[in-house]
Amino acid sequence: MAPQIPILGAILLLIVTLSSIDPTESKQPAFKFMNQLQGCHKGQKVSGIHQLKQYLERFGYLSNASYNHPNQYDLFDDVLESAVKSYQQFYHLQVTGTLNSETMKLMTMPRCGVPDIVKENHPHSHYHHNRKLIHAVSRYAFFNGNPRWAKSMLTYTFFSSVSVPAAQSLSSACARAFQKWANVSNFTFQEVAQSSKADIVIGFHVGDHGDGIPFDGPGGFTAHAFAPSIGLLHFDGDENWNTNPGPNQMDLESIALHEIGHVLGLQHDDTVPDAVMYSILNYGNVKRNLHPDDIAGIRALYGLQP
Ligand code: ZN
Ligand code: ZN
Repeated sequence: MAPQIPILGAILLLIVTLSSIDPTESKQPAFKFMNQLQGCHKGQKVSGIHQLKQYLERFGYLSNASYNHPNQYDLFDDVLESAVKSYQQFYHLQVTGTLNSETMKLMTMPRCGVPDIVKENHPHSHYHHNRKLIHAVSRYAFFNGNPRWAKSMLTYTFFSSVSVPAAQSLSSACARAFQKWANVSNFTFQEVAQSSKADIVIGFHVGDHGDGIPFDGPGGFTAHAFAPSIGLLHFDGDENWNTNPGPNQMDLESIALHEIGHVLGLQHDDTVPDAVMYSILNYGNVKRNLHPDDIAGIRALYGLQP
């Protein structure tokens, strides 16, 4: 009997090892904590409030220092109420300061990882990555200081630190997305070999991947990109990417189109849900054509006739 025990042990070890590397087993949906928060308002103490504060900090509605006191941990305090109001204002919801169903519906949707409002101490600010605050006439927006490319012929290549099934479709999806922006601007885009020094590097990554803005597992933030002329465009490898998305899948081409908009210098368009530069795109949805507001934005940034 004795020799069987190490074999059994080895099999058990193998099972444990396999289950621990399965990303769907080990990772909770990123915004799951929000489920218990619907209806919450100022004065309540509810588990998950702290994570909501982190969420609002990530997108620029709250500063880190304002909510890390232990007594305030899961408390819906004044600071959180004003952050919720700013969020509601940004997305043109009714400004109530409470976590009503309209607000929670928007907050739980998968979205772009680029903040709506960037504070000075946020990692994105090192990349001069700020929302332009004054834009009275148009609904599109630029990063702070209007950074843009000084040349119109841009090269791109691919580098991923994780292997995902959708990687085989990445090049063709990005080529189609680049073409949409090329059609309405002076830009031309050319894919080059990985060994060449490209202007834009695109790839799949998971968790902390070295640029100061970690991904968060399935759901939550789906991708992010940096303002000109950083040229980085990252997809969260923990999402379920597809080129013909089902109900729980993200459309690779739609998100590529949005993130290329950031790479070229556009920020989130908070007013027009149909715009490609709107920060939220739900599972299974496809948005592969530029909206007139996206086109007006890119043409204004690069001084082209409207
Ligand atoms: Zn975005
Ligand atoms: Zn990144």
